[in-house]
Amino acid sequence: MTPEPEKLAKRQSWAMPKRCSPPRKDPLFRIIEAEIGMPELMAVLALSGEPRALSLLDLLNDPAYSCHTLATLCRRVGLTFIGLVDIYRRVQISRGLIRIANHLPDIMEDMAIDSLSRNVTCHGCDGSGRVPVDSDHDAVCADCGGSGVLRILGDAASRKLLMQVVKAI
Ligand SMILES: [Zn+2]
Repeated sequence: MTPEPEKLAKRQSWAMPKRCSPPRKDPLFRIIEAEIGMPELMAVLALSGEPRALSLLDLLNDPAYSCHTLATLCRRVGLTFIGLVDIYRRVQISRGLIRIANHLPDIMEDMAIDSLSRNVTCHGCDGSGRVPVDSDHDAVCADCGGSGVLRILGDAASRKLLMQVVKAI
């Protein structure tokens, strides 16, 4: 065999579907398999909706390609290592945004509660409205004016943020 056909065969080996790829050929793709795992990777590919990701998923599900490495299949559909990681990153960000959104109702309710003004018992008179002047006399509490309660305004920052959220300001 002359050197020239050998070079050609080596260069085109990725495009030959019946030939198994050499095992442990591409360390970067092995990182993906180790860190993400194939079941999770396949779920991510399906969620991404990206045409090349869906093509890769088809190949991964095809028994005819079961002996090919992930690296080989990615090359076949035109996906680089960085491209595959980017698909994973975007799906994970979408998942994170959905988890954040799941908490939004509770967070907004907390914000509304923090925004509410409330009455508390006056600490100056313990709610009686009067404070002792000497052993025989008392007087109207200067803190609460004799009502026994103090009005605490809702948190200003929460109020402002809440109004911005509901687009009232
Ligand atoms: Zn008072």
